[in-house]
Amino acid sequence: MYRSIVVLTGAGISAESGLQTFRGAGGIWQNHRAEDLATPEAFAAEPALVQRFYNERRRQLVSGPIEPNPAHYALAKLQAGFSGTFTLVTQNVDNLHERAGSQNVLHMHGELLRMRCGGCGDSFVVEGDIELDSLCPACASVGLLRPDVVWFGEMPKHMDVIARLLGDCDLFLAVGTSGNVYPAAGFVEIAGAHAHTVEVNLEPSEVQSHFAERLYGKAGEVLPPYIEQLLK
Ligand code: NAD
Repeated sequence: MYRSIVVLTGAGISAESGLQTFRGAGGIWQNHRAEDLATPEAFAAEPALVQRFYNERRRQLVSGPIEPNPAHYALAKLQAGFSGTFTLVTQNVDNLHERAGSQNVLHMHGELLRMRCGGCGDSFVVEGDIELDSLCPACASVGLLRPDVVWFGEMPKHMDVIARLLGDCDLFLAVGTSGNVYPAAGFVEIAGAHAHTVEVNLEPSEVQSHFAERLYGKAGEVLPPYIEQLLK
């Protein structure tokens, strides 16, 4: 039995819930260029466009027919039923892990339902639209709010704690992540030095050769039986 499990999830785990992945068929970047929307430079140049993009994505998450799928629920069940250390790290900015019951999720790329004030640094939950003249609820500054997500070129969150947990785990499971975006794509090499490593994806990722075990198919179909086995 394992002692410490680290799970890394990417956009693929939310695809069956109806949220677009970034890359691949139907991916967000087929309609938008990443550098026009998800960089600090894009926000400085076209703040209204960037806020509108995030307002639309937030609306889709809170008012669309978006629900967690069996893969999200399976990870919540693993956390509840596992007696060792369990850590869920996600690159996703959605809240589907939490809605499925997962606790203490490390959102390394931030959260769609949070805004941050460039004045006082406060981060707060938001579900509605944010306009260019929206007020910070903590310091009342006007026009300094930005999505609390990590844009290209910015430092991911929680990296110290993630590095420590990767260094200590004996099972590393990556679900629905393309292996294109670093540092997350490098986690398998860190963990693989001492832990069993498993990839769950629709197709082999960019870093598939680093995994000891590979399970291909939809996460909602492949992950639940794998987790049932782990919990036995
Ligand atoms: P990605 O879009 O680069 O890759 C998605 C991966 O998921 C691909 O390898 C694809 O084969 C796989 N996949 C697609 N459908 C699947 C399914 N049903 N089951 C299993 N695997 C499936 O995603 P990534 O690796 O997470 O890229 C990183 C960036 O994407 C992150 O910065 C993240 O913040 C962002 N992102 C997040 C969301 C979200 O919050 N839901 C959505 C899009 C992008």
